[in-house]
Amino acid sequence: MAAQETVDHKYVYDFAEGNKDLKDLLGGKGANLAEMTNLGLPVPPGFTITTEACKAYLDTGREPDGLAGQIETHLESLEREMGRKLGDPQDPLLVSVRSGAKFSMPGMMETVLNVGLNDRSVVGLSAQAGGNDRFAWDSYRRLIQMFGKTVCEVPGEEFEHALDEAKRAKGTTNDLDLDAGDLRGLVDAYKKIFLKHTGREFPQEPREQLDLAIRAVFESWNAERAVLYRRQERIPADLGTAVNVVSMVFGNLGPDSGTGVAFTRDPGSGAQGIYGDYLANAQGEDVVAGIRNTVPLQELERLDKKSYEQLLDFMARLEGHYKDLCDIEFTIERGKLWMLQTRVGKRTAAAAFVIAGQLVDEGLIDLDEALHRVNGAQLAQLMFPRFQLDHELQPVAKGIGASPGAASGKVVFTSARAVELAAEGEAVILVRRETNPDDLNGMIAAKGILTSRGGKTSHAAVVARGMGKTCVSGADELDVNIPAKKFTVGEHVVNEGDIVSIDGTTGKVYLGEVPSMPSEVVQYFEGSLDPEHIDNALVRAVHRIMTHADATRRLAVRTNADTGADAARARRFGAEGIGLCRTEHMFLGDRRELVERLILARTDGERADALAALLPLQRADFIEIFREMDGLPVTVRLIDPPLHEFLPPLEQLAVNVAVAQERGEDVAKEEALLAAVRRMHEENPMLGLRGVRLGLVIPGLFAMQVRAITEAAVAVTRDGAVAKPEIMVPLVGAVQELETVRAEAEKIIAEVVGDSGVEVLIGTMIEVPRAALTAGQIAEAAQFFSFGTNDLTQMGWGFSRDDVEGAFFWRYLELGIFGISPFESIDRDGVGRLVRIAAEEGRAARPELKLGVCGEHGGDPDSVHFFHEVGLDYVSCSPFRVPVARLEAGRAAVETDGSDSR
Ligand code: ADP
Ligand code: MG
Ligand code: MG
Repeated sequence: MAAQETVDHKYVYDFAEGNKDLKDLLGGKGANLAEMTNLGLPVPPGFTITTEACKAYLDTGREPDGLAGQIETHLESLEREMGRKLGDPQDPLLVSVRSGAKFSMPGMMETVLNVGLNDRSVVGLSAQAGGNDRFAWDSYRRLIQMFGKTVCEVPGEEFEHALDEAKRAKGTTNDLDLDAGDLRGLVDAYKKIFLKHTGREFPQEPREQLDLAIRAVFESWNAERAVLYRRQERIPADLGTAVNVVSMVFGNLGPDSGTGVAFTRDPGSGAQGIYGDYLANAQGEDVVAGIRNTVPLQELERLDKKSYEQLLDFMARLEGHYKDLCDIEFTIERGKLWMLQTRVGKRTAAAAFVIAGQLVDEGLIDLDEALHRVNGAQLAQLMFPRFQLDHELQPVAKGIGASPGAASGKVVFTSARAVELAAEGEAVILVRRETNPDDLNGMIAAKGILTSRGGKTSHAAVVARGMGKTCVSGADELDVNIPAKKFTVGEHVVNEGDIVSIDGTTGKVYLGEVPSMPSEVVQYFEGSLDPEHIDNALVRAVHRIMTHADATRRLAVRTNADTGADAARARRFGAEGIGLCRTEHMFLGDRRELVERLILARTDGERADALAALLPLQRADFIEIFREMDGLPVTVRLIDPPLHEFLPPLEQLAVNVAVAQERGEDVAKEEALLAAVRRMHEENPMLGLRGVRLGLVIPGLFAMQVRAITEAAVAVTRDGAVAKPEIMVPLVGAVQELETVRAEAEKIIAEVVGDSGVEVLIGTMIEVPRAALTAGQIAEAAQFFSFGTNDLTQMGWGFSRDDVEGAFFWRYLELGIFGISPFESIDRDGVGRLVRIAAEEGRAARPELKLGVCGEHGGDPDSVHFFHEVGLDYVSCSPFRVPVARLEAGRAAVETDGSDSR
């Protein structure tokens, strides 16, 4: 009744049958062992049981039909090749049983060495090694230990205690001092431990040892720590692991034997050279287990010159073959070198760039491939300054690393004070319970932002990330007292003016100043390091790869910038225009009073006066930005947030009124404001009176902004620069909204532009789902679309951005409803589909329609690839993300369009 159709399925591959591209089937370790075998490197013979066999076992709870027979066949041929039989009492073949999944899962699943040893073959092993009893018993005790722990779940500490006990009895701390008799005694002790925990004797039958070990590797795929690790690393749960059965070679045969690990380049810096550790007279994991002190690999030259030179030769061959940094495990058995593992090695962000650059120089890869080898996340890492934490400095608190970087400065508690001190040239850290839009100026002025509340999507976190400013949020050990201008943490009291240091990567908060190092990569982008003339491998590599990315990419990269300073910086970082200039901040600070007048206006005349007073201020802002962006397009978004956001909070006004009344002062204005706040209160402000809706109900508001933009463009043009304004209407859901705004705007533009030659485009955000779904109609009235993917995500999912993360995102991530927050990386299937529909239907209606994106997704690597695929013209992101977007746009072009230069 066994299912016959699986009998012929191939579950076992000899090393000679596989290759490095079969990682899905053979796992990384098996595929690379096969590759090395086929390269002619000395790999101990063996075979690999496929991930499919593992999956079948996990599905049904038993080995699939045919597997046992195939193992038998491969074992027999291995025995023939080695001239020994598994566990033969006279002359045993021993094997290791090693797990190996598609993705390396360090320390997640274990390996059993010396399978095939038992009470009889241990004697044969000794004879094989020329009467080396010590070696034989050492190998046997290792088998019982690893088999017990990995296959039978015997607590590992028990074996360790027994080993310590044996060493203590001997009066030593070095396991090499244990002689054959001691190790033999240890084997007896281990067997007792095994019996005690499993209720059975240690299995003596070699084939049973092998089968149990293979099964244990299968089952380890679902061990709790493996499951947790996969979830963390986003490795799919259904891949299964392969099992490698490898004939043993021995590094524990004496001083002329040993085991080691090596890298073909420094995985920390990328520098060429020899990096690794070696341990003489040791087996397997001893090198990494820290049992004895390893020596640097260079020492091997002295210990065993022949093997050393051979190893260098093999490493060079592997690099030449894999065309990348490789890491290696090897063993030397009595002067003979064996290769036990290789893979393309992990590396730091800096090493990734340096190595990619070197490999191009060495002619191993081309620039397209170099581009493929690095990524935006690595580049972003290289752009943050870092603390120099030489000594063990203790943080006083730990919050959420909300926006990376390292910042030290004087503590301030208000936006105004931050601006004041920054103007005096002081570095300041703005400390708040949480921030709100009113803190924007202070956030701009500060070097870093520290809040005691809020998570990764709090206002502070999102805005800081957007500005590339260091932020630690939710440091809830801090008790922040704004009126008293101090915070307490533990027994420390920190007053305004005291210095703190915050690490936006780790979330750690330190008292006092911690020295930090500026990023060389940023200095390069800023133009203060010339890659042609400095001896800095990292900067040269970054320059080379960025230059290629720029030459390759199809997407333009713009920036989100609201001030001239931001615009200038972004331009140095390579921005090719502004994709989003928010006008909100132009209503804040000392202009707040004018906004209050606007809101409280009782007559058309009062309203017109307030707007007329705002006009020159806004015009000046735009002039500054247009000047900085001379020759490049600047998309200006008309005012978007609900106007009541510009008024003080209700409670504060209520208190003001009460206090003023108490004092017998005139409270008319306070009362009017309070009444306005009450009147304008909205249950769902994000879905309320904002964006284009404001423009349609508040006469003259948009007109004032359109006039300020156009007048600024004309003024700049008259000064000899080139202004390319693009006026963007937010929150449009229906073409009629846009048509109404546009009709009014065009009149003003025509009047102001005159004969100046300035051309002003009018377009819209696509951020309401209805706009995406009626994009064909909207395109009739729009010269460009800019996707506001933050709102589109918010409205597409029905998520209130400010509330959802703390409330339930963790659960959604845990359940795998999404793998990453849709605010962080675009949801391709849902929100992305809206983008796709709007892009296609918009272009169908108006082929020359310009398409861009200005949500935070514009700086997210994965999202950039998506926008490339959808065929947008540009992405726009915060200045700091501009280089990341340039790099990823280049990578997207190389990866999806293929390449001619290859
Ligand atoms: P991991 O995936 O944790 O690195 P491995 O399967 O590579 O586990 O094995 C653990 C250790 O045992 C490594 O140091 C490896 O080199 C060594 N080892 C594995 N198989 C053999 C073998 N057949 N002969 C000698 N040493 C081996
Ligand atoms: Mg290994
Ligand atoms: Mg929006």
